[in-house]
Amino acid sequence: MKLTMLGTGNALVTQCYNTCFVLEDDANHCILVDGGGNGVLRQLRAAGYDWMAMRDIIVTHRHIDHLLGIVWMMRMICQYMKSGQYTGEARIYGHDEVIVLLQDLAQKLLQPQEVHFIGERLHLITVHDGETKTLAGHAVTFFDIQSTKAKQYGFALDLTAGKRLVCCGDEPYNPCEERYAKGCTWLLHEAFCLYGEADMFHPYEKHHSTVKDACELAASLGAANVILYHTEDSHLQERKALYTAEGKQYYTGHLYVPDDLETIQLD
Ligand SMILES: [Zn+2]
Repeated sequence: MKLTMLGTGNALVTQCYNTCFVLEDDANHCILVDGGGNGVLRQLRAAGYDWMAMRDIIVTHRHIDHLLGIVWMMRMICQYMKSGQYTGEARIYGHDEVIVLLQDLAQKLLQPQEVHFIGERLHLITVHDGETKTLAGHAVTFFDIQSTKAKQYGFALDLTAGKRLVCCGDEPYNPCEERYAKGCTWLLHEAFCLYGEADMFHPYEKHHSTVKDACELAASLGAANVILYHTEDSHLQERKALYTAEGKQYYTGHLYVPDDLETIQLD
């Protein structure tokens, strides 16, 4: 399986796209995780993906930098189902608040002839804390990260040979996630900015982490690989070098600071 970051930025970035990504297995089954804003279609295209290949979609929470792109995906899927150009089915997974909101937005924003396909061929699937579903042939267990801002689910995805990918969403790790994150092969964690620039970006006031925090966490969890995302975008050209240099001081595993559209081989 491989992971392609469609976006790596936080909610307010303008120099890169909001954090969302595609997981694709060797049989070309794709899982889209979050959607950013309406640029999701552009980013998918730029990454070389056909948006129609995104048959399984996970939405972590209802913040607009994650959820709005999903409304665009729903519109495209339903519109193309209506015109006969989209065959088969698609599934969107989220916790109760996400699914109710998506249903409500679809009712209010899409054409009645498009909404008609929701529930019939576009399935909005409510998942619960600790529940495991099979997406694109992989077991995915959803878990509540106990956010204090907006209810948010992360997930653990089983890769081949006992390897496990854990996505902690866009908030700092909560100890309640330990049973999923401890000893994982891949840890996906937010890093708002460098610890060295915390005075400039105020990550803690926004309930976010620095690169140092995320890397100390990855070390304590014994994660073999860590991918940092959901960052500020003030110096993107140097981000990879600067974040890697800071993170390496606290973490000896494999540290990834991807740019938008970068692909990482997971197994
Ligand atoms: Zn976010």
